[in-house]
Amino acid sequence: MKYVSTRGRAPSLSFIDTVLTGLATDGGLYMPETLPQFSRADIAAMGMLDYQQLAFRIIQPFVGEDLSDRALREIIDRAYRPFRHRAVAPLVQTDTNEWILELFHGPTLAFKDFALQFLGQLFDHLLKKRGERVVVMGATSGDTGSAAIEGCRHCENIDIFILHPHKRVSEVQRRQMTTVLADNVFNIALEGNFDDCQNMVKASFASQSFLPDGRRLVAVNSINWARIMAQIVYYFYAALRLGAPHKTVNFSVPTGNFGDIFAGYLARQMGLPIDQLVIATNTNDILHRCLSDNDHTLKPLVHSLSPSMDIMVSSNFERLLFDLYGRNGAAVTELLTDRSAPLHLSEQALARARQVFSSYRVDDTRTVAVIREQFAASGYLLDPHTAIGVEAARRVRLSAEQPMVCLSTAHPAKFPEAVAQALPQTTIPLPAHMQDLWQREERLEVLPNSLSQVQDYMAALLSAGN
Ligand SMILES: *Cc1c(COP(=O)(O)O)cnc(C)c1O
Repeated sequence: MKYVSTRGRAPSLSFIDTVLTGLATDGGLYMPETLPQFSRADIAAMGMLDYQQLAFRIIQPFVGEDLSDRALREIIDRAYRPFRHRAVAPLVQTDTNEWILELFHGPTLAFKDFALQFLGQLFDHLLKKRGERVVVMGATSGDTGSAAIEGCRHCENIDIFILHPHKRVSEVQRRQMTTVLADNVFNIALEGNFDDCQNMVKASFASQSFLPDGRRLVAVNSINWARIMAQIVYYFYAALRLGAPHKTVNFSVPTGNFGDIFAGYLARQMGLPIDQLVIATNTNDILHRCLSDNDHTLKPLVHSLSPSMDIMVSSNFERLLFDLYGRNGAAVTELLTDRSAPLHLSEQALARARQVFSSYRVDDTRTVAVIREQFAASGYLLDPHTAIGVEAARRVRLSAEQPMVCLSTAHPAKFPEAVAQALPQTTIPLPAHMQDLWQREERLEVLPNSLSQVQDYMAALLSAGN
């Protein structure tokens, strides 16, 4: 399988090179040249597979000859072994024909483990084979950092540096990162905000001469194709449990960077019968405005009770645009590089998007109310991100007959603030494997908002380690 840039001017790459590269050289994101297709009969035959077996069936065509079947099976088995539910992604019913897909049984209690456990194992395999050692550098506002650290902590050929804004991530999120005391894990608390962290990572990727000889940076953010690919699997898995391919199944997805829901779109393009994909946003609603009013103006970021969806521009939206514009890289480039006006989609592209996607915005007040109402109705506790997905699904769903699956992107214990507002009397314990999180030793380095000081710090540690 070959991978092409959404901007159409970078060389096409193999699967392995795509995974080990960040942005394409033309500034675009990599996409598979063609999508694997599964017929109704193919999908029907997947009904008996467990999560890992299904993951192999879905992922293998994207990998092609780049990995042996045996190696790919092993990567998948190792990636999903640490999950604490034997179904890996279990379904729970919350209303008539409405289901929650629990994606929080991985090590860090958020769905990002699905992609980052896989990516860590994939890196480890590829780097061992090449005899190469790389540096993972990433910025996080919360969930990505801990999932990336958990994914890479056991990788012998990776040193991982995660930058988070000092004092601006939650206690749980910080401790999930800083209590991993592995020799190859480095947490930097930057005296700045998330954008400062991200800009520092971008600048470092653009000019990597600060690294010791022979080292290079590798990306773990959601522009990495392997993350999207791994997320396609659970759409198939949930739909199969609910009667696909004989039944059509719809999904509602709490959305930030558009990676998760884009994986659902790809599942549909590969043959899974999905009629409706609901983009659920919080007050940072650029995607909702884009779809409903073709309004893509940037507004200042609002800090909400669902911080993992506090995003101004969704980087993976470009991958959808590539498809909506007939996979025409020149058209995507023109659309995204005209900075004189906000993005404006053609009527045709917008109409295409609306055939598949619906959208809805949920503010903090309503989020808290939904958590409270759902708990009263069924005793089920939603995390704030999931509550937004559930509310959006109920507001815009088109069919009562087709099952609606709401993706639960995090465990409620990870976001106690919203839950405390909804249910002041209820305490939510952390799951057993994290009960001692508050007692664990932390290790982090607080650094000033200075690119050269961060890079000097990294270079010194990397040289000392080897
Ligand atoms: C990352 C994240 C999201 C948003 O997912 P995207 O792929 O960025 O759209 C939603 N909920 C939680 C809990 C997350 O960590």
